[in-house]
Amino acid sequence: MRCDKCRRGAVIFQPYSGLHLCEAHFVADFEAKAKRAIRTHHWMKSNDHIAVALSGGKDSSALLWFLKNLTAQRKDITLSAITVDEGIGGYRDPSLAVRIAKSLGTGCLVASFQDEYGVTVDEIVAKKGDSCSCSYCGVLRRSLINRIAREHGVTKLALGFNLDDEAQSVLMNVLRGDANRLIRPQRHIDGMVPRIRPFMYIPEREVALYAHLHVEGFERERCPYAHNALRADVRGVLNDYTSRHPSTKYSLVRLGERFGELGGAAGGEIHACEQCGEPCGASCRSCQILQEVLSNAA
Ligand SMILES: [Zn+2]
Ligand SMILES: [Zn+2]
Repeated sequence: MRCDKCRRGAVIFQPYSGLHLCEAHFVADFEAKAKRAIRTHHWMKSNDHIAVALSGGKDSSALLWFLKNLTAQRKDITLSAITVDEGIGGYRDPSLAVRIAKSLGTGCLVASFQDEYGVTVDEIVAKKGDSCSCSYCGVLRRSLINRIAREHGVTKLALGFNLDDEAQSVLMNVLRGDANRLIRPQRHIDGMVPRIRPFMYIPEREVALYAHLHVEGFERERCPYAHNALRADVRGVLNDYTSRHPSTKYSLVRLGERFGELGGAAGGEIHACEQCGEPCGASCRSCQILQEVLSNAA
C-alpha cells in the first residue's frame, strides 16, 4: 500500500480518515493531533513544569518522547518524569522507566509503595486476592504521584491515556450508570496537580506504532494482575463495534467531554485529608484502602 499523500510505502491505514500514511506523514499527523489537544485545552503555558507519569509502557514512553521534542526549544518549560514502583514482582522494574527517561535526557523521580506505604501490590494481592488489586493500586498510585508532583513544584502532570482508554472509561461509566463520574467537572482542586492527556484523541494502535518508531526498551507485558473484567469486556465490544463504525471512540470521548462541561459546580466539597494530606471528598479512598490492607483483621 502507498501513502495517500506522497506515494511512499504506507506504515498504517486509518479507517476513520480513509488514509494510508507513510512513516513521515503518520508522525506529522500524530504530532499535529497531540499539539491540537494541548492547544485547545490550554494545557501548556510559560513557566510550566510538566512531569510525565512514566510507567515504562508504550503510552507514557511515547508521551515523554513527544513532549521532549515539543519542548526542546522552550527554555521556559521544564520537563521531568515520575515513576512509581508498586512492588509487582517480575513486572514493574523502575529501572526500565529510569533508563528510558535517561536516554531522552530527562530526570526521573522514583517512588515506591514499599517506602511510602510500607506495603507492595504483591502483598496486597497475597492478603486480599487480585479482584480489587487494580482499583486499589490505581488509587494509591494516583495519590502518591500527585504528592510527589506537588512537592516538586510540578504544574502539569502528563498522562499517557490514549483514545481507546478514554472511550472505554466513558462507556464503562455509562454501563455502570455512574452519572456522578460522567458529569464530574474539570475544575481546579487545591492540592491537586492539574492533569493533561495529549494523546486522548489518538487511537491506541497509533500510539503503539509511534512508540515503536521512537522509543527503545519499553515494557511490552501487561500487569499480571490486570484483569479488570468490565474494562476487558468493554474493550472487546468497542473494538468490534468500531471496526464497523470507525468514529465511535471519538464520539464517546466527545460525549464524555460534553458531560464534563454540563457538570458545572457539581462534585461536592474537597478538602485535604487529615491523615495523608491529599485532597479528598467526604472520605479519603487512599487512606481507607491502606487501613484495610494494613489491618491484621483482614
Ligand atoms: Zn507520505
Ligand atoms: Zn488520606
